Amino acid sequence: MKNVVLLGSTGSIGTSTVKVAEDLPDRIRLIGLAAGNNAELLVSQTLKHRPVAVSINSVAKTKELATALPGVRVLHGDDGLIELATMPEADIVLIAIVGTAGLKPALAAIRAGKDIAIASKEILVMAGEIVMREARQHGVRVLAVDSEHSAIFQCLDDKPPGSVRNLWLTASGGPFRTTPQEDFPNITVERALKHPSWVMGRKITIDSATLFNKGLEMIEARWLFDIEMGRVQVVVHPQSIVHSMVEFVDGAMLAQLSTPDMCLPIQYALMYPERVRSERVQTNLAKLGQLTFEEPDCKRFPALNLARRAGEIGGTLPAVLNASNEIAVEAFVNRKISFLQISELVARVMNAHNVVSSPNLDQILAADAWARQESVVRAGLGQR
Ligand code: NDP
Repeated sequence: MKNVVLLGSTGSIGTSTVKVAEDLPDRIRLIGLAAGNNAELLVSQTLKHRPVAVSINSVAKTKELATALPGVRVLHGDDGLIELATMPEADIVLIAIVGTAGLKPALAAIRAGKDIAIASKEILVMAGEIVMREARQHGVRVLAVDSEHSAIFQCLDDKPPGSVRNLWLTASGGPFRTTPQEDFPNITVERALKHPSWVMGRKITIDSATLFNKGLEMIEARWLFDIEMGRVQVVVHPQSIVHSMVEFVDGAMLAQLSTPDMCLPIQYALMYPERVRSERVQTNLAKLGQLTFEEPDCKRFPALNLARRAGEIGGTLPAVLNASNEIAVEAFVNRKISFLQISELVARVMNAHNVVSSPNLDQILAADAWARQESVVRAGLGQR
């Protein structure tokens, strides 16, 4: 039985994790749940799974929760997340909070000796070097929940880094894979929110349309697998069946295939190193018929080169890319800037940044705050 703390239980990854726990009631016990705002869903998850403690971001909602959940410890805000992440009974902490709020709880969990499963890619993009170093020092595992990184992890199967030629991240290409450049100025929020193969949270769906999601994943892979950016490659694979690949030095490529369903990588991370029976994912290759691959178009999707540059230069630049992109996506969704302006804004903010190399956590958080403010000003959304 694994005692699991789930941060971000009410989101897309969070609700899939709850499904996995329901599939494996003899193997997974949810002992801590955290949500942002959705008190109603948090209450129903808590009544069903009886965790020891829950946390909600807004302090205003704690009273409502405490009344609805007698006998359950109700926490709130950033401190609540840290308290859950360090619960003595926890074996593993799965972090599925959108944005940067998961970074401090991730480090707290590592320092408390807990394995962590990371869905929130922002954590590794911002502070991959620190997170992986601390994990090594404390002898804990950092397990990937992102389907691409889970696939790579499964294919690597503990082979030494010297045996790897390249890591290949697959990208569905998003809703605008075949959209001509001339049509990009007409892209609406509604069109960008329609992902061809995955149903996900709003932020990551827009990131999949710009390909910033793949860019963030390149940086995530660089840290998770301790490999330089130059050996992290991207190939477009519209069917989203091959979740990613490892190309070994002898030329062999290993891939992990399955129909797209986040429950599989979530279950793999929570049950690692075991493979546990589940009927949820069934893949019929003959029915699928074709698996195709194509080069990504870096001209229509500048996010890929921006992320490669951020990952290669390193220091505080990936945190700046991530923060600026978050502001840009929010502005796009609120119809303040156009789709094309998302990557334009990120590029301008990256160019204006004075990179700090080998930053500590405070310097990373300062770069994150600077990039948010700079993006707001440059997008014309507010004053300096
Ligand atoms: P969603 O927007 O669906 O969910 C986000 C979750 O974070 C919600 O539970 C939300 O709570 C919670 N949350 C937000 N702020 C806080 C906070 N301050 N404290 C506690 N909880 C908070 O996002 P996704 O599930 O799609 O994505 C989560 C992360 O996983 C992202 O980093 C994404 O990039 C990554 N990811 C997602 C994949 C997917 O298939 N969806 C695939 C791979 C990675 P509430 O709703 O109650 O406000």
